[in-house]
Amino acid sequence: MSNLNGIAASNGIAIAKAYKLAIPDLSFEKKKVEDTQNEIDRLTEALEVSKKELEKIKEHAKVSLGDEHAEIFSAHLLVLDDPELINPIKDKIETEQVNAEVALDETAKMFIQMFESMDNEYMRERAADIKDVTKRVMAHLLNVSFPNPALIDEEVVVVAEDLTPSDTAQLNKEFVQGFTTNIGGRTSHSAIMARSLEIPAVVGTKEVTEIVNDNDLLIVDGIDGDVIINPTDDQIKVYEQKQADFEKQKQEWAKLKDEPTVSSDGQHVELVANIGTPDDVEGVLNNGGEGVGLYRTEFLYMGKNELPTEDEQFDAYKAVLEQMGEKPVVVRTLDIGGDKELPYLDLPDEMNPFLGYRAIRLCLERDDIFRTQLRALLRASGYGNLKIMFPMIATLDEFRQAKAILLEEKEKLTKDGVEVSDSIEVGIMVEIPSTAVIARQFAKEVDFFSIGTNDLIQYTLAADRMNERVSYLYQPYHPAILNLVNNVIEAAHAEGKWAGMCGEMAGDSIAIPILLGLGLDEFSMSATSILPARTQIKDLSKKELVSYKEQLLNMDTAEDVEKFVREKTNQ
Ligand code: PEP
Ligand code: MG
Repeated sequence: MSNLNGIAASNGIAIAKAYKLAIPDLSFEKKKVEDTQNEIDRLTEALEVSKKELEKIKEHAKVSLGDEHAEIFSAHLLVLDDPELINPIKDKIETEQVNAEVALDETAKMFIQMFESMDNEYMRERAADIKDVTKRVMAHLLNVSFPNPALIDEEVVVVAEDLTPSDTAQLNKEFVQGFTTNIGGRTSHSAIMARSLEIPAVVGTKEVTEIVNDNDLLIVDGIDGDVIINPTDDQIKVYEQKQADFEKQKQEWAKLKDEPTVSSDGQHVELVANIGTPDDVEGVLNNGGEGVGLYRTEFLYMGKNELPTEDEQFDAYKAVLEQMGEKPVVVRTLDIGGDKELPYLDLPDEMNPFLGYRAIRLCLERDDIFRTQLRALLRASGYGNLKIMFPMIATLDEFRQAKAILLEEKEKLTKDGVEVSDSIEVGIMVEIPSTAVIARQFAKEVDFFSIGTNDLIQYTLAADRMNERVSYLYQPYHPAILNLVNNVIEAAHAEGKWAGMCGEMAGDSIAIPILLGLGLDEFSMSATSILPARTQIKDLSKKELVSYKEQLLNMDTAEDVEKFVREKTNQ
């Protein structure tokens, strides 16, 4: 038995055996071979096993994730059947008398390089497919096990170095009881996905993959951030009790599901949810969300091998809007980059991806991608209460350009006789300090602000949100953050606009009283945080919290702020 501590990323307790999700060591030696037929047979066998596996994964993915996500596996299957790739591998074995591993590796690399250097996007996507498939075939040649998260069919806790959003999207909630990773923080995208899937998670443990073996029994305590490896019977009993208490607490919270969010002195605020896919809407409604405050559309673009078409996007946006009815839905345009990659766009590696070519920067340059998304959104606008916001806005000029493109597409659609809503509010995310500082100027032109503290904190304190070594600097209660947030809210209100927050800070029990006192209008959080937040706000007096505002803004440190709030709100 041993314990590890990490960051509590998604509430709840999971008890199940470990399933390690790690790409195995695929290194091999170059060998001269006499019996080339034997190598060709080994290759054929590895190809066959890979094919069977991929067919199974594709079927699973179809059921659990839908046809679209399953498509990527069809593309992988095509690669395995492509004689233009397979024959040269066999030829190489015969003519150069090398082992199958070498022939596979060298031939695949040659095709990958060739496709990657082509101008044609479709061809570049094939390079990504070949890369993926080669790893699987190589694992079978080397006889090492290759993880298949989509095939998990028994209760497990997934253990990984990190989980990419597309790995997370493949996890079947029915079997995956929880997960734990070496890296990441509360605002890394794997943690965010875990919360929308309502799977308990502990991230940033630094070494869980080194300590845990497949099939070890694990307890993941997503409430306090602990991972217990091979627990004793007594520990299991303690955590089963904790699990039961948590379920009871959830039932208490659920009593407020259909109530508005009102402070003890009668002030109303809106509690809305962050979502990543149309499937998350059910969780929003079950948890009493009054709307969607952030729809992260990039997940539509991930876990597949080509850009989603206008119609695919239209279907997704329409599904969300229709299910939410009259409730507002704030859709964020594509925010790719940082820890969210799109391999098929084949963007060059960058030294500082979070400060690089991402989000609105990419969309303004690749306006073909941007326009497709905007058209899909505009077409869907008649099906509900749509608001659009642009991510990572650093300058007014960016906002003006993005809005101009939106208006151009709207005009084109209207000319073509397509119905587009006339009441779509257009806002921005405030996640870059420059924008928070001159929020007054922005407020004249935008319809609303949504403060993205996940990024705003990392940029203001210059502390990578993914790096647990500097997580001590990732301080939501830092007076600098409170002053920036206050500046944005005051600027919005001075122009009669509203200000929301869709970073994780909006659902934090220490931050909530502060934000209520600063006058935040809309709090957008993981769906599972809504009912605890509503319960908390019910007992808070907004008037009292407003009276602490100046004092809080002038404090010296985040610790001072936290201590003060804990004292005043009995936490
Ligand atoms: C944010 O930065 O606060 C935000 C909500 O966006 P994301 O977490 O997707 O970067
Ligand atoms: Mg962000």
